[in-house]
Amino acid sequence: MEERTEIESLGEFGLIDHLTRNIEIHNASTVLGVGDDAAVIDHFGKQTVISTDVLVENIHFDLMYTPLKHLGYKSVVVNLSDICAMNAVPTHITVSIAFSNRFSLEALDEFYEGVYAACERYKVDLIGGDTSSSQKGFFISVTAVGEVAPDKFVKRSTAQKGDLICVSGDLGGAYLGLTILEREKQIFLENPKVQPDLENQTYIIGRQLKPEARLDIIQYLAEKEVVPTAMMDVSDGLSSEILHICKQSQLGAVLYEEKLPIHSDAKMMGMQFGLDPTACALSGGEDYELLFTIKQEDYDKLTLSEEISVIGYMQEMEKGVNIITRGGNQHPITAQGWNAFK
Ligand code: ADP
Ligand code: MG
Repeated sequence: MEERTEIESLGEFGLIDHLTRNIEIHNASTVLGVGDDAAVIDHFGKQTVISTDVLVENIHFDLMYTPLKHLGYKSVVVNLSDICAMNAVPTHITVSIAFSNRFSLEALDEFYEGVYAACERYKVDLIGGDTSSSQKGFFISVTAVGEVAPDKFVKRSTAQKGDLICVSGDLGGAYLGLTILEREKQIFLENPKVQPDLENQTYIIGRQLKPEARLDIIQYLAEKEVVPTAMMDVSDGLSSEILHICKQSQLGAVLYEEKLPIHSDAKMMGMQFGLDPTACALSGGEDYELLFTIKQEDYDKLTLSEEISVIGYMQEMEKGVNIITRGGNQHPITAQGWNAFK
């Protein structure tokens, strides 16, 4: 049988010591980490960017098909993605958890394995958090901190008319991954003897369970000396995000269906589920890619990258926010982003 250590046997401080015993520091800016009333960061003349998120069991994640290690990794990554979306480099996180006695020390260790894997992968330092019990369910709150050269952060509200709209990676996969996992869960609930059929679906399931923050894109843009005019990450779905940029920049936009980057596995799964891959790319959430606008004259600096697609351009607000389909028809884009409250 698997080992099960009750949290009670360690107590709160014993647990915190246990969870933070092997912390590795990657940044000189970490002046003081875990162990005091607060952490201290010195960003040496840079500006500091901060973002925080709460994740609630059965609202944001389902432990029936989410391994705790993946959950720990993803909880960190989605926050790092917000920092990257500001054109900043993530440096520090705090992780707060509340859990019921359903969770053993071994379970929390698994979760923290994922947290530390993300810290290692992105070279960020875990510098604190909070630990509490809950009556029911698992609650996670991660705060991420990053640094950016003075006034080089990029907002959503500063796109200009004529700017090219770019997106990193591919879209719609995470939503299709979630659809598969939900389907297998239903099959399992109806007949626990049926083995899940997840073969050949590793790419899109990975997109759902183990997303990455596009720090590589931020670094690439910096290398090419391209500063996006506006940027945000794609957490709710492309339509919802482009509407945010348009509204906040007081502009309209045109997207081209044929330009949307959709992975071949996502296209195949979409067909199989009777879901239009374009609709998944527009309305599916959690891809954690970067959506950004650039000046037209910066286009040539970026053509070498396969990881960046140009999908449209910004136009006058009066012309609306539209998508041109493969057939040449124009449709207004409406907000149908993934909604945790539905
Ligand atoms: P306080 O009473 O000031 O809130 P705590 O006893 O909660 O302090 O925390 C002691 C130290 O351990 C602090 O540095 C805090 O940031 C850190 N810490 C607490 N919980 C966690 C956690 N789940 N993960 C990482 N660090 C934590
Ligand atoms: Mg505390």
